[in-house]
Amino acid sequence: MPQRRVAVIDRELCNPRACDWYLCQRACPVNRMSMRHLSHDMPESEALGSMEKGCITTSELDRKPLIDEGLCIGCGICCKKCPTLAIDVVNLPTSLDETPVHRYGKNRFVLFRLPAPQKGSVVGLVGQNGTGKTTVMNILSGNLKPNSGEAEGSWKQILLKFKGTEMRNYLSLIADKKLRAAYKLQHVDRIPQLYKGKVRDHLRASKDVVDRLGIQQMLDKDIAGLSGGELQLFAVAAALSKDADFFFFDEPSSYLDVFQRLRVAQEIRRLAEGRFVMVIEHDLAVADYLADVVHILYGRPGVFGIVSQPYTVRAGINTLLEGFIPEENVRFRDEPIKFAARAKEAAKHKLFMEFPAFEKRFAGFSMRTEPGRLNRGEVIGIMGPNATGKSTFIRMLAGEEKPDNNALVPSFRLSYKPQRLVLESNEAEMLVREYLSQKTCKETFSKEDKHITLLLGLEKLYERAMGKLSGGELQSVFVAVALIRDANIVLLDEPSAFLDVEQRLRVAKLIRSRAELMETPCFVVDHDLQFLDIISDRVIVFEGEPGKSGHSLAPCELGAGMNRFLKSVGITFRRDKESGRARANKPGSQKDQEQKAEGRYYYAD
Ligand code: ADP
Ligand code: SF4
Ligand code: SF4
Repeated sequence: MPQRRVAVIDRELCNPRACDWYLCQRACPVNRMSMRHLSHDMPESEALGSMEKGCITTSELDRKPLIDEGLCIGCGICCKKCPTLAIDVVNLPTSLDETPVHRYGKNRFVLFRLPAPQKGSVVGLVGQNGTGKTTVMNILSGNLKPNSGEAEGSWKQILLKFKGTEMRNYLSLIADKKLRAAYKLQHVDRIPQLYKGKVRDHLRASKDVVDRLGIQQMLDKDIAGLSGGELQLFAVAAALSKDADFFFFDEPSSYLDVFQRLRVAQEIRRLAEGRFVMVIEHDLAVADYLADVVHILYGRPGVFGIVSQPYTVRAGINTLLEGFIPEENVRFRDEPIKFAARAKEAAKHKLFMEFPAFEKRFAGFSMRTEPGRLNRGEVIGIMGPNATGKSTFIRMLAGEEKPDNNALVPSFRLSYKPQRLVLESNEAEMLVREYLSQKTCKETFSKEDKHITLLLGLEKLYERAMGKLSGGELQSVFVAVALIRDANIVLLDEPSAFLDVEQRLRVAKLIRSRAELMETPCFVVDHDLQFLDIISDRVIVFEGEPGKSGHSLAPCELGAGMNRFLKSVGITFRRDKESGRARANKPGSQKDQEQKAEGRYYYAD
């Protein structure tokens, strides 16, 4: 009989002392039936700690609980009672009639199905973080031998399981050690810890790739001094230059500006000729542009993941947004995600400040920005190429950087989320709870603050060390800090990086409510146009030559700003009729030409 239920216990979070010893075992109704037989002379804590029979028993290895999924009736009582939120018990979709591909162990994450790599096509993976993308990547690159949810078997047994499927041929390449894999890691902020020296030292044999990505000027830089975008380009270039058969790109677009995203997408597409290429991408406009087919990964983060059948890219992304897989009759999200144009209420905003024109020069770089008006409670999206002075502008606005033209602005308290997620050496050991409290300078959180931590799923991370968080988890903590801190102006530099689509929407909602409820002007620098589209009341567009010069226009209405920006990078977007999302037109396509001729670079509402 196929498995119906998954129980996962986070062994790091479980702390039997914290619940006055094995509360889950005491509360489980199935256990209570068996407990009647326990000796009355034994203290209850010990009796439970030595429980050998029942639905929740105790592991001999770590003295922590184990749940028998066959006996569990799925009542969820243990999950609610556990004070450390260590337990998840979830029903699997009834349509799922196969055995797992891999399980990390008893009461650990389980993955069902694999996406089939296809030579000559870019296969995209979209879906929530924590539903198994990295597990898929490790299996397909030969680093993890799938165990069908049981003890590890031989390759012969594994291949038998996939008999008659597309996967079998691919897996037999791994079994025969005929597959060379290359991988672009997600969390590029870690690169300076892994690689030392100059960029050139690591890209010696990659002249073609360096030229095509336009990164010649980066070659003589130290890896330690690269910006987020440069680290990403370095990582992509290193992966593209590998002599491999299977390439896996884990979020190749974070930190890149729109122009760079599309350039990288083109290079990845070119790579697919004659090779297996798979990409994880949460910027849907980029995924759309990049992939030929997509698989959706759905399930419960940290508990189970299921890989959907392949879809054409448009149908796959729309299915992801819909939250419903019709072929399997599975709803994996209560509500569909719609990107309808939001009613903008800019007119009601009260003036916060008028800001002057700024000028600033650094060695080899100069910038100037137009004066403008900043309203209370509005969100201003900032878009433009990397290295054109966006963050310097905000720092001048907040009085943290002195403009060269002596323009005067009142000094404000700025809460700033930097682009890169870098921890100081003493912070890696800190628990999330301690880090949040130290960085926000708050011992206790208000109701609004708690709403932020809840929506970003931070409670579950409180007892984790900062240095052990994934990119998405770290981003959520950084965003929470910036939104919780007391400040007159909030600036978030690329808050969407490493977040999945649902997390992006939650962050968008939180930014808007921080702006509206506390009347704080919020600036958001981001390159995910869909994200900017849903949060911005107005936008500031930066133009210029990256690293040399930059200038900004005064804040303007969203549509006009997007249009101006896209025109400057020569890309047109249309709106998908079904989901309302932005779709990049293929360069030179009929739509692209038509829109360019009419000057409509951004889709009209
Ligand atoms: P994604 O890449 O989609 O974020 P992963 O494949 O990294 O997801 O992980 C899915 C789940 O599996 C996560 O909750 C993670 O904690 C768990 N996991 C990953 N590796 C291991 C492991 N070696 N042992 C136990 N659990 C693991
Ligand atoms: Fe206690 Fe929760 Fe651990 Fe059960 S899982 S022993 S309730 S901390
Ligand atoms: Fe017991 Fe399962 Fe209910 Fe948890 S969900 S209390 S393990 S029956």
